[in-house]
This record gives sequence, C-alpha cells and structure tokens, in this order.
Amino acid sequence: MAGRIPDSFIETLNDRVNIVDVISTRVTLKKSGREYHGRCPFHDDSSPSLSVSPDKQVYHCFGCGASGGLISFVMEYDKVDFISAIENLASLAGLEVPTAAADPESGQRKALYAIIEQADQAFRKALKSNPNRERAINYLKGRGLTGLIAHRFGLGYAPDGWRFLLDQLSTEAQAKKYLLDAGLIVVNSQGREYDRFRERVMFPIRDIRGRTVAFGGRVLDESKPKYLNSPETKLFHKSEMLYGLYEARQACRSLDRVLIVEGYMDVVALAQFGIDFAVATLGTALTGQHLDRLSRQTAQVIVCFDGDQAGRTAAKRALDTMLPFLSDEFSIRFLFLPDGHDPDSLVRHEGTDAFLSRLNEALPASEALIGLLAAEVDMTKIDGRARLTALVLPKIAKIPTSIYRSLMLDSLSELSGTRRIDLDIRLQDLQIEAFCVDAQPGEMPTSETTTKIDAEMMSFESSRHNEDEQHEDFADHLEPPMEMDTPIEVLPKIQFPDPDKPEPLANRLLWLVLQNPLLLTEPIPIPERSRLVNIHPLTQVFDWIIRSNKPTTARLMGHFSGTELGRLLSKLLNQEALFSESAYKAEFNDGLDQLKKQLVTESMKLLAEDAKRGKISAEDLHQALTAHKK
Ligand SMILES: [Zn+2]
Repeated sequence: MAGRIPDSFIETLNDRVNIVDVISTRVTLKKSGREYHGRCPFHDDSSPSLSVSPDKQVYHCFGCGASGGLISFVMEYDKVDFISAIENLASLAGLEVPTAAADPESGQRKALYAIIEQADQAFRKALKSNPNRERAINYLKGRGLTGLIAHRFGLGYAPDGWRFLLDQLSTEAQAKKYLLDAGLIVVNSQGREYDRFRERVMFPIRDIRGRTVAFGGRVLDESKPKYLNSPETKLFHKSEMLYGLYEARQACRSLDRVLIVEGYMDVVALAQFGIDFAVATLGTALTGQHLDRLSRQTAQVIVCFDGDQAGRTAAKRALDTMLPFLSDEFSIRFLFLPDGHDPDSLVRHEGTDAFLSRLNEALPASEALIGLLAAEVDMTKIDGRARLTALVLPKIAKIPTSIYRSLMLDSLSELSGTRRIDLDIRLQDLQIEAFCVDAQPGEMPTSETTTKIDAEMMSFESSRHNEDEQHEDFADHLEPPMEMDTPIEVLPKIQFPDPDKPEPLANRLLWLVLQNPLLLTEPIPIPERSRLVNIHPLTQVFDWIIRSNKPTTARLMGHFSGTELGRLLSKLLNQEALFSESAYKAEFNDGLDQLKKQLVTESMKLLAEDAKRGKISAEDLHQALTAHKK
C-alpha cells in the first residue's frame, strides 16, 4: 500500500507535521523534560502512561505497549487506514497528496466507487420513502431492529421491478457500463438488462475505509436464494472481505475480540443487542486472507459453528486454515451453537448477558482440535491414544513455534500418555519430512553419500568453531525447520523478555538501527534464501536506510507504517532498552560481524542440504567448503 504514495511525500509530512501537535488535539499532553506525557487513548489508562518524543517523532505507552510514529497514531486513534491517515495529515499541513497520475486503473476505480455510492443512496432513500417499502420495514421490525441500527449499518431497500437502478442511474451509456462492472445490473442471453437486486433488504458491504464496495441483499419471504451478494469486481473480493468489520471498528474503541458469524442479519441483530463486534464472511468459508486481516485488527477471534454433525465437520475443516495463524498474540476460539439456533435467534432467546458468557466460555482452538480428533478414536485403548497422537501432531506442526504450541504439546502429552520429549522428537521428524518433501525421488542420494556429506559438514563446522567460540549459537537464530539440533542457551550479555528465548540477532540489529538508522553505513548483502529469524525484515530496513538520504527513526517508522513489517518495528521500538546508548555503535558493529559469519555458516548448511537432496554433487559441496575454509 505504501508504494502508491511516494516516500518523499511521507518524509515531507514527517518533517512538516509535529507529532506533539497531532496527538495534543486528541489527548491532553503535559511537557516534562524533552518529552510529553498524557493518558493513553488505547487502553483504560488511569495514570499518564503515554510518552511522546518530539525529537524522535514517536509515541510510546508504558501501560499497553502501543507505540509508533505520526501516521500510525492517526491510523490507530482515528481508526482509518494508511492512505486516509496520510490524507488527513496532509490537509492539516496544507499539502496535496500526490496521486499516482500514470495509473489508468485509478480513474475507473473512482467511477466504480461513485456509482456504488449512488446506488447505496438510492437504496437507503427507498427504505425511507418508496411507496412499496412497507414489506421491508415490516421485515426489519419483525427482526427487532430499530431505525438507529438500520442507520448505523446503512440498510436500504431494493424495490420489486426490473429497472429501479437502471432507470435512475444509467442516464448515460458510460454509467450503464459502470453499473454492469459493479455487478448491479445483469444482462440476460437475449441482451436485456435488468437490476440484480429486486425486492430485497439491502446491506451495503463496506471496506475498511468505510466506502461501500458491494451489496448483500436478503429476500423478504422464504424464496431462494435467501442471500444474494454482488459478484466479484475490481473492488470486491469475497475471500478477503468481512461484512461488518468497518462498523465493528467504529463501534469499539479497541477491538479486543471479533465474533465471526454466517450472515449479515446475524451481525446486525447482534449489534442491536449490544454485541457490536460481530462480522460475517460473504458466502465463502473462512480463508487465510480473512484471518490475516483479522490478526492485524484484534487479539482474539471467536468463530460460530452449528452444534450438529455438519457444524463439527465444518469446524474440523476450518482448523486447517486457522492453525498457521495461532500464536501467543492471536487466539482463535470455537463457539458451538445449541441445536436449531443461529446467533440471531440465540441472542433473542436468551439475551445479551447469557450470550456474552457463552463467548467467554468458547472453546480455545487447541482444545477444539484435540477434542474433535479424540472423538474419533477409542481413548480407553492404548492404540486409540497412539492414533490420537498420530492425528494431532501433524496439525500442531502447522502452528508457528510459540509458547502456545508448547502448551498444546503438554496437553497432548497428558491426554495421550506419551512423554513430552517423544512428542518433540516426532514433531521434529515431521518438520524435516515436510521440508524434504519436494526432493525429487529419482535424485534421492544413497545413504553412503549422505554420510559423506555429514562428515564434510562436521569437519567444516569444527574448523569454524574456534573463531565462533565467543559468539552465541548459530542455531538460536534460525527459523524452523532448521531449528532442530541445538538446545537454546541463555546468554548473560542481554536482558531478554523471556529467558528461554534469546532475542534473535536480526531483531537486535533492527532494534539498534531503530534507535539510530545512521549506525548502518554500508550495504550488507543478504541472500534471499536465508532462513535466519527475521532476516528479510532486516534486509528491507537496511535497504531503505541505504537508499534514504536522511534516515531518521520517524521516517523509517513512517515508511513502513501500515505494513506487517511496520508492526514488527513498532513492537521492537517498544521493547525495553537492550543496550545503553553509549554502546550502540560497538554492539551494532559486533552484531554485523556475527551476522556475516552466520550467513556464511548458513549458506554452507544450505549447500549441504542441496547435496543431500541431490541438487548439487558432493564434489561441488566439497569444493565450496574447502574454498570457505581458506
Ligand atoms: Zn496504552
């Protein structure tokens, strides 16, 4: 996203707009020393925990850990996306946001937004004043909705007939084309055009900036299809969008959790009962893109499933999509509904409090996973418990390494009676198998060559060991699945948040350049295939610093804000100081030296893997290793 607005403009903004001015229009700030303090708007703050540094153009909360730069503050506080934040700040500074002029798409997209906006207005107006609106009004009243909720969700009415939109909006040929592109009209095989949505209650589907990009329509009787959505268009991608996410973000100051339900009516009905953090998928199953999006907005997702067999099957299928997203920061829970209920009928039946307590007791994904699979085996028999282990472990292997994953292994160990150490070993095997799965069968090396390669590597490593002695273990800094041979040791030099988990080298370097980007003075070549932890974020930040003519912390944060990397950087910036300021330069240079050595060792290991998988010959490996020893 950042690519569409030139970096130079973001730098100009950061130079022209003072972060203290922006924050102080939203939060009362008091000056103390070089910094400003105030009550943090992102958590329930009783003492002033928010600190704003005008020198670095960053803010940081000691209570909840919120931190970032100018743009991220506006994004978080005003609940707007990157582009809107830039636009708001630019107008404050009296600057015009340079648009990507050479983009022929953008004109077309603008026209699509505009025609959809007109349709949106027409549907809303029809709900207020169309002579035939009575049925729609009765339907909404019958569902217990007030005018206020209908207004918040922008509900409308598409009257019966074939040409409601066509007659109003397609006065020009061009407009008709956009109506067609937006999926609002349909052409039949005889070439006749007509409205897609007829005699339906209309739910505008809004993007995260609040712009309507599509519609869902629900019938007023029992005819089919009950729900009809706009087709996929340039603006509307069903596998990414969630109905109600914009409204939920507007309603909740901090979106602590999100409930995922099936239909728009459920979302609106729940909001009517004060549960204003529900969203719905749009006729698709929950996808990885949905979860990716949600994991940036909230810490917890609760997914509703029917309580019957079909619901259990759906839940089991959904688990496969969810596992890669589970982490210590992002949890997923399952809510199985009582038979015959959907969320709408349930909240109506038992009321808000009872419904909320169900949410609080929703099953964590870990328990759901083990529970659903345990139901398939006979847990009273040894072979049943062994079978459970065999079913669950490959699933756990999909969860990123985390405390969460470790706890899941603990509970599996307890339940199946398998020792934890045995589970760990089996899990490592599974990861190695997954890693080797793309090796060509015809090229599988013999055990003899494998042994030879292993011997080569051992001699290579022992020759390197002396020079590396005072440095920490290389394996601590590798992403899985390479992280398999060495137990992690605690290092005395640095204070780590978790004593079992040393801060990876790349994070340390990132932390240091975040304090002072000028520490980096020369480009560091980093191979693309490297699997060192967070090496690719490091590459991106290093590249930016080298390309930038006046790199500062604020500009760096501004450049990456709104991206995954931006979030990592804000997390790091937020960490307790790893080193004292006087040691930055020495620590950085020392870290760079370690990095260069680790890259060499890693590239040798990667070559050895290539050789094991038959991608290069053992002779080539031997030559490469010998060359590096010298
Ligand atoms: Zn806070």
